[in-house]
Amino acid sequence: MEKRTFLKTGFFLGLAAASTSLLDACKTATKSTSTAAAPVIPSPKMKRSGPFTLPPLGYETSVLEPHIDKMTMEIHHDRHHDSYVKNLNDAVKDTKYADYELEDIVSRITTSDEDKKIRNNAGGHWNHSFFWRTIAPGGGTMPEGVLLAAINSTFGSYDKFKEQFATSAKGVFGSGWAWLCVDKDKKLLISNTPNQDNPLMLQVAKQTGTPVLGLDVWEHAYYLKYQNKRPDYITAFYNVINWKEVAARYEKALAG
Ligand code: MN
Repeated sequence: MEKRTFLKTGFFLGLAAASTSLLDACKTATKSTSTAAAPVIPSPKMKRSGPFTLPPLGYETSVLEPHIDKMTMEIHHDRHHDSYVKNLNDAVKDTKYADYELEDIVSRITTSDEDKKIRNNAGGHWNHSFFWRTIAPGGGTMPEGVLLAAINSTFGSYDKFKEQFATSAKGVFGSGWAWLCVDKDKKLLISNTPNQDNPLMLQVAKQTGTPVLGLDVWEHAYYLKYQNKRPDYITAFYNVINWKEVAARYEKALAG
């Protein structure tokens, strides 16, 4: 962990801890398939004290210009993400999830109607906390090392990976997310989820795994600058990925 450069930044300490335990929580996860047994839900490791809070972005809202504009970043973080946090605090009150850490909620949430508000807002909080670090500046223009080798062997090349990931992101009908995950066999997997679901939701996601890269394709993530042109936003996303962070997540997932 001490080798991970983002840990040097105080802003990221809380998120780093959350990310670590999220990855740990997935270690025992069993991928859901039509023939597989029910997923193994890891035991809760932490009890939370106090409400969920909005994590700071950790960088200026203008630094991803021109690919992602300042106003979108401000509204997306300060209003949309903040709403998920507030709604989550409201939703977990007086439920069995009231004292659970975020990753414990995410791994346990079900498709039941009574879980719906918690599912949407816990997903929204987790996904955005993850996303701000995925698109953080300073990560280089493309993957390197073992991550690049895995991308090449899984998808053929980095360009082919970009094509397949873009196809998945474009294929989300309405609102949702595209993901690059490490599956239970330690293989890279591209998937997508609707709404604020994510691959850590063992009882919800069709394809489960440990996310290393995620792209928000809700219209609120791109409409101010790109309007209906989601493909242009996806192309721009490749210019702002923090590949050092993605590589750190990948190596952690492999070790888990
Ligand atoms: Mn969003």
